[in-house]
Parts: sequence; structure tokens; C-alpha cells
Amino acid sequence: MKAWEQNIRRVTPYVAGEQPNKQNMIKLNTNENPYPPSPLVKAALYKIDNLRLYPDSNVTPLVKELSKYHGVEENQVFVGVGSDDVLAMAFMTFFNSDKPILFPDITYSFYDVWAKLFKIPYEQPALNDELKIVKEDYYRENGGIVFPNPNAPTAICEPVEFIEDIIKHNQKSVIIIDEAYVDFGGESCLSLIDTYENLLVVRTFSKSRSLAGMRIGYCIGNADLIKALTDVKQSFNSYTMNQAAITLGVESVRDEAYFREHIDKIINTREWFSDKLRELGFSFGKSKANFIFATHESVSARDIFMAAREQDIYMRYFDKPRIDNYLRITIGTDEEMNVLLDFLKKYLDKK
Ligand code: PMP
Repeated sequence: MKAWEQNIRRVTPYVAGEQPNKQNMIKLNTNENPYPPSPLVKAALYKIDNLRLYPDSNVTPLVKELSKYHGVEENQVFVGVGSDDVLAMAFMTFFNSDKPILFPDITYSFYDVWAKLFKIPYEQPALNDELKIVKEDYYRENGGIVFPNPNAPTAICEPVEFIEDIIKHNQKSVIIIDEAYVDFGGESCLSLIDTYENLLVVRTFSKSRSLAGMRIGYCIGNADLIKALTDVKQSFNSYTMNQAAITLGVESVRDEAYFREHIDKIINTREWFSDKLRELGFSFGKSKANFIFATHESVSARDIFMAAREQDIYMRYFDKPRIDNYLRITIGTDEEMNVLLDFLKKYLDKK
């Protein structure tokens, strides 16, 4: 190895779900929303005429809109380039202890990548056999705690009291609750923000607002946390949010009726699809997300995944300990879920 090579920061990167671009494919592998964003978003897109200028580095219009929407102060909101950006900034800002941060062994697979990138020590308490978080595992010294609620890829959501218990036992470190999927029927812990100054709640426009391609995420917490986060961001890259993302984010938040209608559609599809999937011999915990994490009683998840892929039906398969016999299936439109069910029926019959 050459001398200069020893100074390179080497990381094993996060692997995102594949993004094939085929006509007539059924894409249920990256938890995108099957419906387009609000028509207000599209209408505003064509009117954007300020691209000559740098955007507002404090993202003021969107911060204002989100603070109104959630009934919090403007200095309690931070916006970033998708929740991945918000989470990465939060890891950098809040997880600077010699003690390990804690997150589950089965969870969003970007957390350990950021921990390694930022040289943050970490430990991963195991989910129980039902793939649920054991809260007592988090009642110990740590440098911070982070997990999604609903968890990913399990889709299981814990109630607010469960989260509050963990926070009560952890007043000396920052707790990040990643609510990427909470809009699909989960319980949010935003109500705890004013009680616990070490709680940060992270949200995204990628799932429930159909704006994965626009890259908008945010978090809400007490003003001191948000100030610290903003100072780090402004020391890293001032102009993370582009003009279009700021403008279109505002329009999305304004269209509450469209938002509710499409959330309800996805929940409705999830519920009937869950029943059908169980009838086919799959088992899974109650999903409160826009996906289901299921295992089949006799046929291997990998085989189903590969066979479906051949037919241009994409699901997500993780070749990882404990979950290598599960499929993560995003909830698409009713039509898409019916195509998947037809495929599964035929495939399982042949087995
Ligand atoms: N958190 C969780 C749990 C996720 O599954 C995802 C989606 N990959 C994200 C955060 C990041 O989403 P985005 O950056 O699109 O907001």
C-alpha cells in the first residue's frame, strides 16, 4: 500500500434498492409512493423562475410552512436533502461521545454506515423473536439512540408510551426517532418534543408525500438541538436545499386534502393485501408503514424474490442474518398488488 493510501477514509457504502427503468414493471422495492405528488406541486414547478439566485440557506419558506403545520416554533425545525441528509447531519452533530450509540440489529441499514463513516462507536441490541424492539435493552449508558418508528424493514410501530419510557431512561444523550413511515397509521412522538429537550423527530417527504425524487426531509426538536444542527450544516454546505425543493415542499404541505386522501388509499390497499398475503401462507407482524415484511411458511424468500424479478416484479430482499428469509414488499396501487398476488398464487402452486 502506498503511503498516501493509508490516509484514505475507506467505507463500505450503503446499498440502495435497485432502480430499474422498464416499461410495465411493478416496482415494490424502495417504498416509494405509487401516486404522484399533489397537483399543486406540479403547477408550482412550471412557475419556478428564481433558479438564477442562490436559495435561502435557512430554507425559511419551508421551515415556516412546516412550523405552522406541526404547531411548533420556526426555531424547532431543520430541513435537509431528504431525511438521509438530516440523519447524517444529526449523527455528526449529536453523536460525539466515547460511549456507543445504540440502534437495533435489524433496522435501517444506513445507521451503521454513518456510524462507521463518522467513527462513532455503536452497539446493536437484538430485536426479539417477533422482530420487536426490547426497550429495556436501551436502559444503559450510551452516546445516543436512534431507531425508526415504525421500524424498517419490519414495519412494526411502537406506541408513544414505549418511546417515552426509553427517553425517560436516557436523559443524558440525544434520542433520534426516525418517523419516515409514521404517516401510514403509526403513532408519532412529536407530542413529546416540548417535554424532552433531548428528543429529535425526523420526517421525510419521500414516502407519504410522493416526493422521493425531490429529496426533502426535516426534523423537529427543541431550539438548542436545531441551532447545533444548523451550525454544523452551515459549516459543511450552506446551500443544501435547492430553489425547486423549497418551493415544491411548501406546496405539498399546503395540500392537506390530497395528502390525507392518498395516505388513506395506501392504508386501505395494505389492509386488504395483508389478508390475501396471509391466505397464501405468509406471516408478518402488523404493518403501520407503506410496506410489509413477510416470510413464507415453506418457500424461500430468495427464490420468490428471484422468480418475481424475472417477471419484472421488484421487491426487496436482504441477504442478512436473521432476515434472509423475508421479503419487503412496498404497497403499490390496487392493480399492482393484484398482479403480485396473481404471480404469487401461480408460483406457490407450482412449488
Ligand atoms: N429512514 C428510513 C427508516 C428509511 O427507510 C429511509 C428510506 N430509505 C430514510 C430514512 C431516508 O429517506 P429519504 O432520504 O428519502 O428521506
